[in-house]
Amino acid sequence: MIYLDSNATTQVHPDVLEAMLPYLTDQCFNPSSGYRAGKAVKKAIEKAREQVAALIGAEAEEIVFTGCGTESNNAALYSLAKAVGKGKRIITSQIEHSSILRTCEQLERRGNSVELVGVGADGRLDLEAWKEACAQEDAGFATLMWANNETGVVQPIEEAASIAHAAGIPFHSDAIQAVGKCPVDVTTVEVDFLSISGHKFHAPKGVGALYIRKNVSFDPLLFGGGQEGGRRSGTENVASIIALGKAAEMMRERLDDDEHAGVGAIRDHFENRLLDEVEGVHVNGSKEFRTKNTSHLAFDDCEAAGLLILLDEYGVACSAGSACMTGKQKPSHVQTAMGIPAKQAKSSLRISFSILITMDEADTAVEMVKKAVKKLRAVQGIGGVGPVTVYT
Ligand code: PLP
Repeated sequence: MIYLDSNATTQVHPDVLEAMLPYLTDQCFNPSSGYRAGKAVKKAIEKAREQVAALIGAEAEEIVFTGCGTESNNAALYSLAKAVGKGKRIITSQIEHSSILRTCEQLERRGNSVELVGVGADGRLDLEAWKEACAQEDAGFATLMWANNETGVVQPIEEAASIAHAAGIPFHSDAIQAVGKCPVDVTTVEVDFLSISGHKFHAPKGVGALYIRKNVSFDPLLFGGGQEGGRRSGTENVASIIALGKAAEMMRERLDDDEHAGVGAIRDHFENRLLDEVEGVHVNGSKEFRTKNTSHLAFDDCEAAGLLILLDEYGVACSAGSACMTGKQKPSHVQTAMGIPAKQAKSSLRISFSILITMDEADTAVEMVKKAVKKLRAVQGIGGVGPVTVYT
């Protein structure tokens, strides 16, 4: 199977697996245990903390390990909401992941209000509207994703963070689709909190991290044994934490060497071939500001649901740019926010690569997409190859 759904999850990298395995077997000790073997495990966790910190330019003590990206988002938002108090407004965007949007809804029920700032046709935040929202008297805190999970579009995060701080409100970023894929540096972007998830960059599912800037107060979500310096109780998921550290180190080396550009070259090759060789293919969102691994494409006169079934049959796994609800294709909230017409939204695919993809696989996938598009259009009496439009 050719796997083109890496924004959903990634394979545990063989080097990461090798690093984590001993902590499931002969190094299985509890890091809180007082004997030497337990202390060695604790030391390994601290090394992983340094590796994760290094990936984002943080200090080790600013990293708290969590159970997933969703937990990191929840922990940051609940803590911020408690700090600013009821009646305060949460400023966020229309294109956030459900782990932000649903948490905001919960906080709304508890007495906060929520403002969802829009994006342009390119999928990037409307900075003027963001500025106005942050300047409101009742603004409490702001949260904005670094890169979008559907389109890969990278947000004007530096500006958004500075605007929030200039308005005197704290700022969190869900950087789950950005970390390991594009430079994320907390020394240049004024984030107070930042969320990370391991399974988006070759660590296992079920481990994440929350960056909490030094001297920023934090109210934990979980209480108990006082692990993670009292910031996240619960016996540590040791093997997965070691894996997260190893994956972070691996991705940092790749980003440093610009080796990640290899993924970008394969994505561009794949995308350009489809744009050149198939009529009626459009890129949704900014081509300039996006992670190197993502291609969000609309195929005229092809329902994404049909494309996905055919591609699955042909051995290619990717996902729709729209959510399938009760058997009816419904454009996703991201595409709706971007103003993508419903017909185009319903014919969009999210194709996302990882560092494990090869050029040969990308070429085979192009042939399979072409075959699926041709078949679907033939059913509807539409065909041919002709000029191509690129929407930015
Ligand atoms: N935020 C974004 C942008 C995501 O893409 C995801 C995962 O799909 C999450 C949050 C949730 O992360 P996790 O699956 O680790 O809970």
